[in-house]
Amino acid sequence: MAQPITLLTVTASQQLSPGMVRLHFRGDDLSAFVGVDHTDRYVKLIFGDPALLEQGQRPTMRTYTVIDPDPVEGTLAIDFVVHGTEGIAGPWASTALPGDTISVRGPNGAYSPDPTVDWHLFAGDEAAIPAIRQSLAALPDDAEGYVVIEVDAATHVQPLAAPDRLEVTWLYRSDPAQPGLAEAVRALPWRSGRVHAFVHGEAQAVMHEIRPYLFRERGVPRNDVSISGYWRKGRTEEAFREWKAQLAAAESD
Ligand SMILES: Cc1cc2nc3c(=O)[nH]c(=O)nc-3n(C[C@H](O)[C@H](O)[C@H](O)COP(=O)(O)OP(=O)(O)OC[C@H]3O[C@@H](n4cnc5c(N)ncnc54)[C@H](O)[C@@H]3O)c2cc1C
Repeated sequence: MAQPITLLTVTASQQLSPGMVRLHFRGDDLSAFVGVDHTDRYVKLIFGDPALLEQGQRPTMRTYTVIDPDPVEGTLAIDFVVHGTEGIAGPWASTALPGDTISVRGPNGAYSPDPTVDWHLFAGDEAAIPAIRQSLAALPDDAEGYVVIEVDAATHVQPLAAPDRLEVTWLYRSDPAQPGLAEAVRALPWRSGRVHAFVHGEAQAVMHEIRPYLFRERGVPRNDVSISGYWRKGRTEEAFREWKAQLAAAESD
């Protein structure tokens, strides 16, 4: 079935850190979001004519996590990594003004933290902060585990409310003395019992470094892990889709 398309209008822009901007949106009809309660729910922003989709074509689209959709109030927000002048969505978000419009397709989503597990592992970079933040908000107060997030520098750290027994670590990629995301995840003392993991961010680190660690070395069952690349260094989202297809093909050989 065709995914619903919703027109959104920017109502405000808020700088969250030197590298991230939050856009607040209003939509006349957010009924597509009713009942989609996954904490990683996301939409495709359509940069181009949405009518192309009805004609079976594919306009340029970019994938973003949706924050606090409220179908009654007709509001939602999206946090964008501003990663320079390259690309489409990042530069668009950094200059968007109230009154600007964008159509989105979706939402979709797959993950919500399982409240019955023994502990949780969240790992990612800036692009995953919105999904991680919403997942932490959905955890019971007595949840345990780790959150590891890589950002450019200490000035890029954002407020992140987490249950007391979740140990939160921020990594700074501009600091050569600090480990990368994968190395930091490997260094965490592994806990006993069942883990539910949510790991998303730059694809090389996530899929080639952290994924084998969780599945092969730690033997975590596939269904207890939500893991994927959210973006790939040096590739646009279109070129990244090819990278993912090649990886999937290589793994099915
Ligand atoms: C399910 C899902 C949810 C996502 N949620 C979010 C979200 O909430 N917020 C968010 O910011 N991103 C999110 N992303 C990632 C986002 O879709 C990509 O970063 C996307 O490539 C951005 O599009 P663009 O047009 O700005 O850059 P593109 O045109 O795709 O790429 C241009 C260049 O910018 C580089 N680039 C792209 N993204 C980044 C980045 N994050 N950091 C540094 N360099 C980058 C690329 O490597 C490329 O060289 C999500 C991705 C997925 C799959």
